[in-house]
Amino acid sequence: MPDLAPTLLNRLSPVVRPPALHARPDCMLTKRVRKASGAAPSFKLGIFAGIHGDEPAGTLAAKQLFQEMSEPGHPEFRDFELHFYPVCNPTGRHLGIRHNHRGLDLNREFWSGSTEPEVLYLESELRRERYDGIIALHSDEDVEGCYGFVSGALLSQHLLEPALDAAAAHLPRELSPVIDGFAAERGIIKEGYHGILSAPPEQRPQALEIVFETPGRAPMDRQVAATVAAVKAILAGYRELQAYSAHL
Ligand SMILES: [Zn+2]
Repeated sequence: MPDLAPTLLNRLSPVVRPPALHARPDCMLTKRVRKASGAAPSFKLGIFAGIHGDEPAGTLAAKQLFQEMSEPGHPEFRDFELHFYPVCNPTGRHLGIRHNHRGLDLNREFWSGSTEPEVLYLESELRRERYDGIIALHSDEDVEGCYGFVSGALLSQHLLEPALDAAAAHLPRELSPVIDGFAAERGIIKEGYHGILSAPPEQRPQALEIVFETPGRAPMDRQVAATVAAVKAILAGYRELQAYSAHL
């Protein structure tokens, strides 16, 4: 297998720091882009992690996916250009807290006129990039298994089901009928919070949006492995879904 790494196009975006924290080099909201080698990628997805500063599993999984995409022998990334935002809440991460340093849950601030610098930056990215799909990675201390949020039966069947199945090699599926206050069916929730990180409301066609959650008290290596497996299953399902819809 030839070494594909030199042919991969990638770039490091300008670093974004909340203005109040310029003095802290560890507080950075970075973006990294990877394109699969070969033919021009067909699908551009954004992978967002760490919007809650005390949920490191998604950040570690995003870093692992980015690394794997740089290596030869990973056909699961074929057709994709992935944009990684591994630390969406750098001040929260620095402080080890869910909220940002101003005490706000950033995942309730989107598309509502927020002036938080992290939200302004991410909103500008979401508007500019017009992602075909958005995968948000989280973990939840109050559950024993993996679950997710998705809208619609089609996406649920083709994306979240396979993601939870793939994750089950590492961590079980959350089977509670109520998760985080929402009705759930075998780990799948089809409603959500207002203000979560999502595509611009005016974007058409609408982006595919999926939230994947690991049980936050499970061993970290298992949370990371479950998340990596889930994202790969989402990519496979997305590719199939697009091929299917192209033939309708
Ligand atoms: Zn979270």
